[in-house]
Amino acid sequence: MKIYLDGKLVEKEDAKVSVFDHGLLYGDGVFEGIRAYNGRVFRLREHLDRFYNSAKAIMLDVQMSKKELESAIIMTLNANKLKDSYIRLVVTRGVGDLGLDPMKCAKPTIFIITDKIKLYPEEYYANGLELITTPMRRNVPDALNACIKSLNYLNNILAKIDATRAGVPEAILLNSAGYVAECTGDNIFIIKDNALITPPSSAGALEGITRGAVMELAKNKLKLLVREELFTTYHLYTAEECFLTGTAAEVIPVAKIDGRIIGDGKPGKVTLKLIKEFKELTRLTGVPIYEK
Ligand code: PMP
Repeated sequence: MKIYLDGKLVEKEDAKVSVFDHGLLYGDGVFEGIRAYNGRVFRLREHLDRFYNSAKAIMLDVQMSKKELESAIIMTLNANKLKDSYIRLVVTRGVGDLGLDPMKCAKPTIFIITDKIKLYPEEYYANGLELITTPMRRNVPDALNACIKSLNYLNNILAKIDATRAGVPEAILLNSAGYVAECTGDNIFIIKDNALITPPSSAGALEGITRGAVMELAKNKLKLLVREELFTTYHLYTAEECFLTGTAAEVIPVAKIDGRIIGDGKPGKVTLKLIKEFKELTRLTGVPIYEK
């Protein structure tokens, strides 16, 4: 397996970063999780836009243009002969001293890992997920905004530990005001009275690329009302349908939350239609990977 690291393709065994890298010492950096389907990178421009916005928010100069990064991603996919892949793009503040000061880090570290995609088991899609809400609150936006896809995922990891301890694959995080924010690695949606509702990013949700695609499909293809709105666990428990979205999970139904059965406990009609539309979109669109 070849890894892109600071301008070069290297073997996996040689893809190493310094123990003085601030990405490791302080979680100082940002990343993206991107996916390629059948030789096309899905919504690559949107992922790169989000990546550069995350970097800008933490005042990290990537020192590469979007075009250069796009070429690096495609080159890495081609080097590994991958047509279907999960792509991890990471930029860290780079090597510095043991202090916090990012200004002492001269050059960012950039790497790209392209790997086979590990999917959730098929039964989750067929039967729907069981979720819990965790006592862990989502980071408040005035401390660390959820829109920044930073390397500091401890907030999410602590919630993931709660999910695993409860024997379920994902946990729902509420924000400090008690409104639903998102899951540890996925956005959340409910269906109520012919409307598709998801928390706004100001509630503590990442502006997911899959979330955006699903909102477009719901509006344009399914003619649903789509609203970004605050809601509570009551609205989750009494929703007609509920599903999660994410680059790895795609669109995945939810059957049970905190012991309450959602709708009739099976993947809902609207959810199933959105899964079909999303599959079609990933099959037909995206930036092509040209073999060199
Ligand atoms: N929320 C969080 C916290 C995430 O880590 C992710 C996955 N990157 C998502 C939502 C879903 O975002 P996307 O659809 O862009 O993968």
